Amino acid sequence: METIVCKFGGTSTADGGAAKRVMQIAEANAARRYIVVSAPGKRFAGDIKITDLLYSAAAAAKARRAKEYRKIYAKVRGRFLEIARDTGADERFLSDLKAEIEETEEKIYLGASEAFAASRGEVLAAKIFSRLIGAPYIGAEELISFSEDGTLDKTTFDKVQARLSGVGRAVIPGFYGRGADGKIHTFPRGGGDITGAVIARGVRADLYENWTDVSGVYAGDPKKNRGAAALPFLTYREFAALQGASVLHEKAAAVAGEAGIPIRILNTFRPEDQGTTIAFAPAKT
Ligand code: ASP
Repeated sequence: METIVCKFGGTSTADGGAAKRVMQIAEANAARRYIVVSAPGKRFAGDIKITDLLYSAAAAAKARRAKEYRKIYAKVRGRFLEIARDTGADERFLSDLKAEIEETEEKIYLGASEAFAASRGEVLAAKIFSRLIGAPYIGAEELISFSEDGTLDKTTFDKVQARLSGVGRAVIPGFYGRGADGKIHTFPRGGGDITGAVIARGVRADLYENWTDVSGVYAGDPKKNRGAAALPFLTYREFAALQGASVLHEKAAAVAGEAGIPIRILNTFRPEDQGTTIAFAPAKT
């Protein structure tokens, strides 16, 4: 059977409605075995991404601005509990989630690193999606390692393969891993895409699906030009040349491209659209 790694970005995890779409997409194809998620993003213009809230909360904690810290963290807590409730979590799940959210609140306040704080957005999201999709949660610290210089450790792909072999399905938080110092480290912003590519390469996936809120790579900005159509196909090289294509982190394309894993950019809110495939050459039909 084919193996597909799917990565869902922040708009796909932003609220209960989007989360249900993610569940339907995951269920629609049994080959979608490994699901990587980002922290909940913006629900509307002017909304604040969970990752941004967590960075602000960590800064307030570091400066010992207790009141401000509690206020920001209350927003994080409220959003996660709302998503969990809106996706049908029962009281038992909610009370475990609440306990983890509260424990995290204290850890950050007591001086946990900025990277640790930021990574909790993905961790909590992945736990909610693990319940919703019915696939086990596997933390990224078990899969992704960074070297001392902050680049991806070369052993990561083998580690991913070893840990996931025999694991039929899993939900994995994006954006972070474990550093050479044993602590949590993150990829650059938008790095959940890189996690997805690393997992896809580790398990030698047939396809890496990157689910976002636009239907692929456009020649122009699809949000400004409604009539524009997504480009159906790009080579890795063509994609790399389009530096402004903000739909996918360019490092993610490089990681998948080096192993020749085809990438497909798809829209969670229009799953029927064909999206953009990035590969060496178009598939023969
Ligand atoms: N949550 C992280 C960010 O906002 C990573 C990601 O979404 O890919 O940058």
